[in-house]
Amino acid sequence: MKIIQVTAEFAPIAKAGGLGEVLVGLSRELSRLGNEVEVILPKYDFISLPNLKQVSNNVWLTNYQDCHLHLIDSPEHFHGGKIYECDDPIGRFLYFSKAVLDYLVERGQPIDILHLHDWHTAFCAPLLKDVYKKKLSVKKTLLTIHNGEYQGKCAVADLDKLGVQGVHYLTQERLQDDDPKHPETINLLKGGVVYADAVNTVSPTYAKEILTPEAGFHLDLTFRKYKSKLSGILNGIDQKLWNPKTDPILPARYDAESYVPMIVEAKKKNKLALHQQFGLDINRTPWIGAVTRIVSQKGPELLKESLKQTVTKGGVFLLLGSLPQDPKLKLEFEELKKAYAGNPQVLIQFEYNEKLAHEIYAALDFLIVPSLFEPCGLTQLIGMHYGTVPIVRSTGGLKDTVFDCDDPTVPASKRNGFTFKTATLPCLQATLERAFHFFHKDPFTFQAMIRRGMQADFSWKKPAQEYVLLYKQLLLS
Ligand code: ADP
Repeated sequence: MKIIQVTAEFAPIAKAGGLGEVLVGLSRELSRLGNEVEVILPKYDFISLPNLKQVSNNVWLTNYQDCHLHLIDSPEHFHGGKIYECDDPIGRFLYFSKAVLDYLVERGQPIDILHLHDWHTAFCAPLLKDVYKKKLSVKKTLLTIHNGEYQGKCAVADLDKLGVQGVHYLTQERLQDDDPKHPETINLLKGGVVYADAVNTVSPTYAKEILTPEAGFHLDLTFRKYKSKLSGILNGIDQKLWNPKTDPILPARYDAESYVPMIVEAKKKNKLALHQQFGLDINRTPWIGAVTRIVSQKGPELLKESLKQTVTKGGVFLLLGSLPQDPKLKLEFEELKKAYAGNPQVLIQFEYNEKLAHEIYAALDFLIVPSLFEPCGLTQLIGMHYGTVPIVRSTGGLKDTVFDCDDPTVPASKRNGFTFKTATLPCLQATLERAFHFFHKDPFTFQAMIRRGMQADFSWKKPAQEYVLLYKQLLLS
């Protein structure tokens, strides 16, 4: 199949969270399965890649991460050094969506699947069906929702700026936001859901959750209406980017086949490296941490509480977090950092740091993910792959991948971490209590969880096959 992936992120050159990694892992595996895959990404001003070949007036091509990567150039839209934080994100991604279709028209090659990701590229679906249909041969479109909270809400005037002829859909209910208080608002994600031939989320549980008002972010009505074209496919993790056996960043490497006490020893060496860098107390255990964007989705209150509880119980807490734009939340976390400055039980780093993320996953005993909602979540998968036991709120993809060690309804061989149902402080506290208990009092069970996590298959093999199946079903429909 000839598959075009259209995306705002591609790891590691343009990555803000999970999306960029998913695009690499999925595209690479789809190619390995014999498909012809091309990825189209904005040429952000911070991207510098060797061997770029100009293939059109504003498009550059390179081979990167075993993928054919096309970069759409427009300094006017892709400047400012960031993916999402810019003067006009709506203008940026509307321009990108249209430029992608213009490029595909110019090339004139028929396409089997146009695969869109999140609101940033969702508008390609209405544009294709209403405006480009006669000019461009695309058999089917698939929209993947990696996070339904972000929907690309904008005004008709934003669409007008694209200067597309025959845009009769602007006045139609098909792009109109579902919130009756804002009938004049355009919702780009909704447009994608309505116009794409199929829609999927990145875990089966999240595909069900978005049908409810609690998790639908006002689009639940639309999701219910188009339920028959909605499914869920769990993400994998890219085994080239994440492999504790070969990871060049790690001071001590280890693999799933090793005797677990050897793994624990290797992790101690990785702790030592962080002790040397940051003065963390090597004699205290367990080490608990999070690698995350700090936004309300990720349960900031619960993250703070985990830190406090860990310190009180004598452990070490590491938070590598990308600071939020929300000034109140930002201030709260900056104050937290000040309050623990110089404390050898706490590391708080506010930056996006890929290298430190690897070092942390490989040193931690537990990874905490107390999300309020989580479409899939990659950090718990990476954590488990690196022998770190997850403590998670049971929601979305976390519910599909982490099974509590005390849950009698789950076969013992699947129990790989700690979960709690409601996002409240008492639930979190009780779960941390259990985790500490197992760590200190029942090392046998704790080590069995390390082994289960490391031996599980979180690769892209199965998810990519599910995407292939979905593409094929679409082409037959
Ligand atoms: P989301 O996509 O909602 O941010 P995921 O768990 O799906 O959450 O993916 C997060 C990815 O981004 C993981 O690879 C994680 O390691 C990485 N990440 C998040 N924050 C940071 C950070 N501050 N520094 C380095 N990597 C980060």
